[in-house]
Amino acid sequence: MDKILILDSTLREGQQATKVRFSKEQAVKIGTELDALGVDFIELSPIVSQSMMETAKELKDASLKAKLILHGRAMKSDIDLLLKLDPEWIAIFLSTSDIHLEHKLHTTREDALNRAGESIDYAKSHGLKMRFTCEDASRTDAKYLAEMVKAVHERGADRISITDTVGIMTPSSMYSLVSEVHQQVPKANLDVHCHNDLGLALANSLAGVEAGANCIHACINGAGERAGIPKLAEVAMALRVLYDQRTDLNVTRLHHLSKLFGDYTGLYCDAFSPVVGESVFRHKGGTHLGAVLKSDGKAYEAFSPETVGQRRRFVVGEYSGRNVIKYLSSELKLGLSDSQIEKAIARLKEKKGDVFEFEL
Ligand code: ZN
Repeated sequence: MDKILILDSTLREGQQATKVRFSKEQAVKIGTELDALGVDFIELSPIVSQSMMETAKELKDASLKAKLILHGRAMKSDIDLLLKLDPEWIAIFLSTSDIHLEHKLHTTREDALNRAGESIDYAKSHGLKMRFTCEDASRTDAKYLAEMVKAVHERGADRISITDTVGIMTPSSMYSLVSEVHQQVPKANLDVHCHNDLGLALANSLAGVEAGANCIHACINGAGERAGIPKLAEVAMALRVLYDQRTDLNVTRLHHLSKLFGDYTGLYCDAFSPVVGESVFRHKGGTHLGAVLKSDGKAYEAFSPETVGQRRRFVVGEYSGRNVIKYLSSELKLGLSDSQIEKAIARLKEKKGDVFEFEL
């Protein structure tokens, strides 16, 4: 598998989520934090506000390692606005499904093809690198999608985004869709942009890269329209743990980044959220605790908490057994005898619930 790139769209897609609005200072901080993590593209949409325009300028001046990719519609007026920022990369989007062509753009398939071509010619005439996004690709007639992708590739689009705009794909249907496109235009660099309406955004994105795409779109805490897109932390760790990819990313920053997003927006990940959730490295069951202690976590953890900037926690209470009390006794140099340990366990059982927890 080629190197899989990560595009973070927190400052574009993420800002489209309800209740998310960053000040310029916050947006710039998020951009620099994403760069420190090591994402490849940071996408933002300067055309939405003066504040995002200024954010784009500041991030550009900060000379990040990540490429800034400025997002707009496939039309000359948007591209002109983006050009004011003298970008290296832009992304333009155009709907390709009949339902969008009819109800959103009030146009025909043929007209959309022409509009795509003209926009690409215009962007390319200014020497820009560009991504073309087929919006609602997953509901687009397969033959027409192939025609569109071929056309924009031949016209010079450097990357093409295949989107599951309403989140209705399964891993197998996403695999088929991306394989089909990949076969039609094997030289095109494909992105996958999957929405999470049915909780399959990460699985579908991974299926997309298995089928030949080489860039996944994500947002911090999975922000985005409606149910959002894959969580950046999940994407980074899935690539690392399952595919041995992107071990270059500074994933120890993931937990901090998730919390920073929560501090700015009030939208924190829930306890069971993979990688960054509060519960992810908490161990409670008696037999689990024993095995975790003896295996340095490996018995019940796919990766260590330190990897992602978290800490392992043990919950002591009615579920606790001998192992954890023994451990505490020795850590705290209490020197409890076997009968005292049994007594402590019995007392904990009487408490019915969690009594306390501690960090390792
Ligand atoms: Zn989207």
